[in-house]
Amino acid sequence: MSEPYLSINLESIKYNSMLLSSKTNRECELIAIIKADAYGHGALEVCQALESINVFAVARLSEGVALKASGIKKDILVFSGINTHRELMQALEHELTVVIHTESQLDILRALPACCELNCWVKFDSGMHRLGLHIDELSRTLSALNDMPYIKVNGVLSHYSSADSDSERSLLQLDKFECAVSNIDINSSITNSAGLLQGYFREQSHARIGLSLYGVSPFSNKIGYDFGLRASQTLNAYVISVRQHCKNEPVGYDGIWISEQDTNLAVIGIGYADGYPRSAKSGTPVLIHGVEYPLVGRVSMDLICVDIGNDSEVKVGDEVVLWGGALPIEHIARCAGVIPYELLTGVSKRVNRRYFNN
Ligand SMILES: *Cc1c(COP(=O)(O)O)cnc(C)c1O
Repeated sequence: MSEPYLSINLESIKYNSMLLSSKTNRECELIAIIKADAYGHGALEVCQALESINVFAVARLSEGVALKASGIKKDILVFSGINTHRELMQALEHELTVVIHTESQLDILRALPACCELNCWVKFDSGMHRLGLHIDELSRTLSALNDMPYIKVNGVLSHYSSADSDSERSLLQLDKFECAVSNIDINSSITNSAGLLQGYFREQSHARIGLSLYGVSPFSNKIGYDFGLRASQTLNAYVISVRQHCKNEPVGYDGIWISEQDTNLAVIGIGYADGYPRSAKSGTPVLIHGVEYPLVGRVSMDLICVDIGNDSEVKVGDEVVLWGGALPIEHIARCAGVIPYELLTGVSKRVNRRYFNN
């Protein structure tokens, strides 16, 4: 086989969950975020591997439905909640836990059949100003839900807007959140990966952890390794051609890179249709036999070119690492002007996933 593949180390994900858990308060439970197919790692596989986690979260109802249909029995929280009666019925049928983030969702819940039971979390807007209830809406919503005997409120959550970059803003959000839930005897959750690693939490019962679970740093100046995290994936491809390339000749679409000397190019069978970012600049490192070589020219749909110089022994069939291992995904993201979240969630279906447990 000479096609690209993504190797995924489930043991690293388990290790990261333990490490992150040890960084929280003793009473705090991790909610493992497995939206977007567990950031590309395979939601079902990650869910099955994380035996010690009891609560998982996804963005959309269909993601939760698919996991329940695959036999997952654990609690699955759906961040977007339900917005139609049909979605409510689906949530009930698959025993999904939904987030209530706007009062208009209450009208849908009022039509709940009497025999049903639905679990929910209520979302408070502490400063992100995207989804979530304002303070007066929060108390109204909690009392409205209290009057619906078939609804169980599991907790109140909120979300940081800038935990990776702005401590003042984050601590204000934390204060505002604590204040909002201070008189309610209920579970609470505000922190994501960045907030957890920065210590922006106090006595909340749950922490919601995505990126760092996969060993990746949410901070642009750090890598996961700096926090003791283990990278959970490597993106691999193969050299499919090695060619001589003349001085002053361009390579690839638009000829944006021109060689300053006679050299050799390795053509590698991976491109933007696989999720390798088209925005990766010439010079982005690619690893072959543990040696870094620079990407040259535009990333094509299915191919990239690398300048291997005149003394390398790189040959057709050699395996290439695009990120992972000695090539942190955080560095590649920076070379492409994107965030690691985009790279992880962008690896396309065309790329085979191979699972390892070591
Ligand atoms: C994605 C998401 C998280 C996890 O964020 P990370 O930065 O990946 O840890 C937590 N909470 C909500 C509401 C999210 O959408």
